[in-house]
Amino acid sequence: MGSADVQQPRYRIAIVGSGPAGFYTAEHLFKQRPALDVAVDMFERLPVPYGLVRFGVAPDHQKIKNATKAFERTAGDGAFRFFGNIEIGRHVSVEELRHRYHAVCFATGAETDRRMGIAGEDLDGSHTATEFVAWYNGHPDYRHHAFDLTAQRVAVVGVGNVAVDVARILCRTPEELGRTDIADHALAALAKSHVREVYILGRRGPAQAAFTNAEVRELGELAGADIQVVDEEIALDPLSAAAVADAGDRTLDRKLEILQSFVGRAPGGRPKTLTLRFLVSPMELVGDEHGRVRAIRIVRNELYPADDGTLRPRATEQQQEIPVDLVFRSVGYRGVPIPGVPFDDESGRIPNDVGRVLDRVGGSIVPGMYASGWIKRGPSGVIGTNKPDAGETVAAIAEDARTGRLPTPAHLEDAESIVRERQSGLLTFDDWKRLDALERARGEAADRPRVKYVTTDEVVAALRGT
Ligand code: NAP
Repeated sequence: MGSADVQQPRYRIAIVGSGPAGFYTAEHLFKQRPALDVAVDMFERLPVPYGLVRFGVAPDHQKIKNATKAFERTAGDGAFRFFGNIEIGRHVSVEELRHRYHAVCFATGAETDRRMGIAGEDLDGSHTATEFVAWYNGHPDYRHHAFDLTAQRVAVVGVGNVAVDVARILCRTPEELGRTDIADHALAALAKSHVREVYILGRRGPAQAAFTNAEVRELGELAGADIQVVDEEIALDPLSAAAVADAGDRTLDRKLEILQSFVGRAPGGRPKTLTLRFLVSPMELVGDEHGRVRAIRIVRNELYPADDGTLRPRATEQQQEIPVDLVFRSVGYRGVPIPGVPFDDESGRIPNDVGRVLDRVGGSIVPGMYASGWIKRGPSGVIGTNKPDAGETVAAIAEDARTGRLPTPAHLEDAESIVRERQSGLLTFDDWKRLDALERARGEAADRPRVKYVTTDEVVAALRGT
């Protein structure tokens, strides 16, 4: 081995997951050159890349999807390969990856929802926000999910941006949706929707709402729905008022002004009503004799200062039943364990220290294993938040490479051979580029950004048909 090889081996890095966290990790890895020579293989279970950008970002928020331009640049690097339609843990095990790469970084996001833990949560008509979001965005696993949109009244539990997305999509007019890249099956179903009333339910007050300003402002500007609030729920309780005054946070002040502007707004005769409620917690989903949701029982909360300095909700005696036929819980996402990778069930994350995977929370480093994005830090922040987060993980990988702490892979043959052997339906980034062009062409014909191919069979047939 020549001295150049000794100083500079080419580090082979596998990234599992092709959402923002995966792509930002690859981008940061390439930025380590020339100090670190890297080749990156990205593994994706689905036939197409981009994870949350394709399957999470709302179809009426196209601008946010511009993030993919940077991902495309990364994918264009000669040292990058995309292995789509390959599930780690099914086609290839984590152990097999570790035998072929110096480092494996998990960027698998948070694929499921937290539960509310209340009676009736599993009644017919009660769904998770993730299911609905994945369905309307054309995620292949959710193509055949059905939501009974003959429902007239819908409750969305939670006041984060996902709850706002779900409520907004339910309130959009068919014309508005028809200009987006929403999946065709969802467009058809939502065009026939009977939904008339949508409630968004926050367990704490307006000052603690998780949604961001642009998102809540948009709720007041919908063509298809009048916004309503309960005046006394918008008025701040003394503890919140003091906390807001202390915080001196202009963004928060602005959020409260936006909410205040909804008070007493006269209905504009729009077909739907969107009601934002605060300081109410769901107690129970009430079913009818067929096991279908017919109401949500809520309790009014008051806030108290918790030991950590935050204001937490506490139930009062005041209860109320709101008749609803459909419920979406949107109380936060949760990571899903990967066979062969440590997982902390309590937080729903891979235990890690600045991206280095640990064998348990507070435990020892598992050499050559890393995590990035939501599976590393939990489901928080916007797409761009994953960039510095990935930078932190890559700094750990680079340091471990420099200090000789990356394990040497046992097998030196190219991983592509095992991937192709296990999955004849492997899809590459070139396949994606062709599919992307096809989807955009279908979109252009319909005055839409794109018309998505949804299932793997549809993707394969589209690529074959060209
Ligand atoms: P989130 O921002 O963490 O909001 C979760 C909401 O659920 C909070 O309002 C929380 O209230 C509430 N909640 C939790 N447990 C509850 C319970 N048992 N009963 C009632 N309410 C409960 O999560 P998210 O909406 O899923 O969003 C995830 C991340 O993606 C966020 O960072 C979000 O900003 C981001 N995102 C951004 C966009 C965008 O930029 N347009 C769009 C979608 C998502 P408490 O605060 O009281 O816990």
